[in-house]
Amino acid sequence: MAPMSRDLRAVVIGAGMAGILAAIRLRETGIDDVTVYEKANRVGGTWRENTYPGIACDVPSHLYSYSFALNPDWSHTFSDGEEIQAYFERVAQEHGVDQLICFGEEVTRAAFVDGRWELETSRGRQDHADIVIAATGVLHHPRVADIPGLDSFTGATFHSARWNHEVPLDGRRVGVIGTGSSAIQITSALVDRVERFCLFQRTAQWVIQAPNPEYSEDDRRRFHDEPESVTALRDALSASFSMFANSVVDAQSPELAAIAAACEQNLEEHVKDPGLRERLRPTYQAGCKRLIMSPDFYEAIQKPNAALVTEAIERIEPEGVRTVDGTLHELDVLVLATGFQVDRFLRPIDVIGREGMSLDDVWAKRPTAYLSISIPEFPNLFMLNGPNGPVGNFSLIEVAELQVDYVLQLIDRIRSGACREISPSQEATDAHEAERVEQAQNTVWMTGCRSWYLDDRGVPAVWPWTFDHFREVMAEPDLGAYVEV
Ligand code: NAP
Repeated sequence: MAPMSRDLRAVVIGAGMAGILAAIRLRETGIDDVTVYEKANRVGGTWRENTYPGIACDVPSHLYSYSFALNPDWSHTFSDGEEIQAYFERVAQEHGVDQLICFGEEVTRAAFVDGRWELETSRGRQDHADIVIAATGVLHHPRVADIPGLDSFTGATFHSARWNHEVPLDGRRVGVIGTGSSAIQITSALVDRVERFCLFQRTAQWVIQAPNPEYSEDDRRRFHDEPESVTALRDALSASFSMFANSVVDAQSPELAAIAAACEQNLEEHVKDPGLRERLRPTYQAGCKRLIMSPDFYEAIQKPNAALVTEAIERIEPEGVRTVDGTLHELDVLVLATGFQVDRFLRPIDVIGREGMSLDDVWAKRPTAYLSISIPEFPNLFMLNGPNGPVGNFSLIEVAELQVDYVLQLIDRIRSGACREISPSQEATDAHEAERVEQAQNTVWMTGCRSWYLDDRGVPAVWPWTFDHFREVMAEPDLGAYVEV
């Protein structure tokens, strides 16, 4: 008997970049019954949450765009967060995704019962779905540094991803803890506005000079008149970023050496004072931590009202930050640009697979997934930008688009009636994880630095192969790795 095709109901969790994409692509493939649950009251994910001064994407905007929604109107090579947020809102609206979203509904539980997912939200709503796509983000849950005395600070303090726009900054004394991408962008944006700016650096960063020119009206008119020129630009950017992505997985690669030389040159040429230059010079290989792209960080940190504090923080006091040399750095505002808890993924959702198996238990040590997308015994559940995926300095949109197309092929097995449930085998998942960990030894992330890429064992929790290989693997699922019921 020929298999019976089925109408499927899909739930997407999260209406950020990947959730919007998933909803659009599900409907394009003919799955009309789609609901998106979004805990906030707007789409945009990371671009809705991160509103700190200076926020921009360090992936060029013409690459950080959906392939099906190129945007001739980007204002800059690296457009700012507000413009990116507006882009996602517009795409969601133009594709009717906003009609599918239940805002203010946080999924709190998802359990696989009798062949389908049963879902609960924070408002007590109950729903069910044949398939669930989790687009819950990677860098989502802020990590607030555990520094003694933090609560005693009498000025304003907040995390970079929870910017308090009520707090005045102009003409005040502002301190920022951290030197990641967020802190560096904040530094450039704030230094001219504040009376005094202190950047508390625990670890120096390699910074690559990345100019950010504005697109002229002529450029934008051409992008409008000749849409193929936008496609060509995106393709060219994709090729150059793929080259970068390919180089970081080989610590010895000549491309990485060229990047290191460019960072070194940036430091030598743009930091005049030899003492400051040495304090800004990292002691590890460029690319080991996520590379910082900035047009003007060195310029900003050399302004007369800026201070780079490299003495370790001893504690926070009511008036400011006390460093181990005994100095009290008096502040009105303290920003914690201290990064994110990067191992959360679906959690804190209570996810229950077959036979009552809890994802919290399965991931008790650390999160793993087959090809970062799916988990044994959690059928018909697919993650976008899930554990150990490609998260180097390149477009996560491109990653998510490849993943969605891969996932749709798995979903098609269910829709066509070839199976009712699909999940990766434990053997395939274990083999993939073992190969991944072995391959990670060759990457630049393992060359001796601390970074959010590293898991509790010091193994990079990322895709350790080339981006080209990722494209190949995502082209078509190897059904031999899956269990179909
Ligand atoms: P991050 O890269 O994890 O940086 C956190 C910073 O806080 C580090 O400098 C860290 O120092 C410091 N820190 C943490 N705890 C500390 C403590 N107790 N005392 C002193 N310093 C402490 O976080 P992020 O800057 O928010 O960036 C996270 C990621 O978000 C980036 O790597 C990137 O993937 C993404 N992002 C992207 C963009 C973009 O333009 N596309 C912009 C912002 C963020 P150590 O280095 O010593 O650990």
